[in-house]
Amino acid sequence: MLRTATLISAATLKKASPLAAVRAYSSAGSPGIMNFGLSEEQKSIQELARKFTVDEIIPVAAEHDVTGKYPLDIIKKAWELGLVNTHVESKYGGMELGVMDSAIISEELAYGCSGIQTAIEANNLAEAPLVVAGNDFQKKKYLGRMTEAPLMASYGVTEPGAGSDVAGLRTTAVKKGDSWVLNGQKMWITNSGYANWFFVLARTDADAATGKAFTGFIVDADTPGIQVGRKEINMGQRASDTRGVTFEDVVVPQENVLGSPGQGFKIAMGAFDITRPLVAAGAVGLARRAMEEATRYSLERKTMGKPIFNHQAVSFMLADMAIGVESARMMVYRSACMRDNGERNTWHASIAKALASEVANKCAADAVQIFGGNGFNTEYPVEKLMRDAKIFQIYEGTSQIQRLVISRGLADMAKSGASALGGF
Ligand SMILES: Cc1cc2nc3c(=O)[nH]c(=O)nc-3n(C[C@H](O)[C@H](O)[C@H](O)COP(=O)(O)OP(=O)(O)OC[C@H]3O[C@@H](n4cnc5c(N)ncnc54)[C@H](O)[C@@H]3O)c2cc1C
Repeated sequence: MLRTATLISAATLKKASPLAAVRAYSSAGSPGIMNFGLSEEQKSIQELARKFTVDEIIPVAAEHDVTGKYPLDIIKKAWELGLVNTHVESKYGGMELGVMDSAIISEELAYGCSGIQTAIEANNLAEAPLVVAGNDFQKKKYLGRMTEAPLMASYGVTEPGAGSDVAGLRTTAVKKGDSWVLNGQKMWITNSGYANWFFVLARTDADAATGKAFTGFIVDADTPGIQVGRKEINMGQRASDTRGVTFEDVVVPQENVLGSPGQGFKIAMGAFDITRPLVAAGAVGLARRAMEEATRYSLERKTMGKPIFNHQAVSFMLADMAIGVESARMMVYRSACMRDNGERNTWHASIAKALASEVANKCAADAVQIFGGNGFNTEYPVEKLMRDAKIFQIYEGTSQIQRLVISRGLADMAKSGASALGGF
């Protein structure tokens, strides 16, 4: 029933995406004037996600952090509302939301618990290679099933020996008849304990350059030869499920090759144009939570006869949080809208991800500072934010790797004579 109601509103929402997202940031009716407001549809999406966060995530976030219990019940409820798998096209049963719409959702969910948001976001990450390069058969079969039941999927690229250095991946796939045989080990794979299928990047040409050496595969999780390891105990985002996955003579049919053999690197990296704005949006959500918790606390806590907010050293920390949250959100929106508008957003997505993850870490650390001794204690919400924030600087490309993308882009622009404003 809930799902039906949601689908009705999904039809309305679909009208909003991706065009309305673009419209909201273009100068419709007012040439030359940028409109920084959300469309009515986007406000509804935000309201829905915000209410869900308040009702379903915030009350249980601390418990999931302590127990590390995977939030399957919450994900199912979010799925019912259409807050999961947001960019699956309507012809495969999805909401077909734009990246901008999805970013609005990610910020709200992460405000409640970025561990739970990461579990939800990991589905988008697994699906993104199919969005980028899947054919109709693959999309219907694998994206379609995500809209029929609340299933999880995983993106399997990182290995024990190679994360940033994708060229160093050792998982191989060898063609045998009409199938491919995969062997290797993946590490830090989010949702893998619950995944129905994996996107897997494997080396298919030992001699080729990185851009042509890898192939992307869709691998059903119940294929013989797949072994999923134990849940890793991480510093933060403990509700999320991260594991190693081993592939031993795993047979994958030719029809599950994404694009064509040799295109895997491009596909795996191309997925980040969709997902990095969303990860950055999650970081903004966490930063906003830190800012709001710290502001409230500072207005109540008194020292030297006045609320600590009235000590400028404290209120300026809060002001810096606001500067970070607002500017990081603008980069999220810009990179998301560029993608929705059909423009290449790789460079801007890296800026958004690097900026937002650093803002999240600074805001969380300063929130702990403002809470004083209480900030260091698990009875208060901000120490969790500080632990949860760190991963934003590591997964989906570390902050150093984002800077690699950004600086290379600058060099390319300089060589081509383009400016950062018009280029990329
Ligand atoms: C909780 C969690 C969830 C994750 N989820 C997934 C997932 O779902 N799917 C998936 O495929 N992966 C996932 N990852 C893996 C994550 O993307 C990698 O950990 C990350 O890309 C970094 O790789 P690495 O750990 O091998 O570190 P390394 O690549 O070994 O890097 C170590 C350090 O060196 C720096 N460094 C490396 N190369 C350079 C360079 N060229 N220039 C400057 N500095 C450099 C890095 O920035 C980092 O500080 C996850 C990781 C974690 C912890």
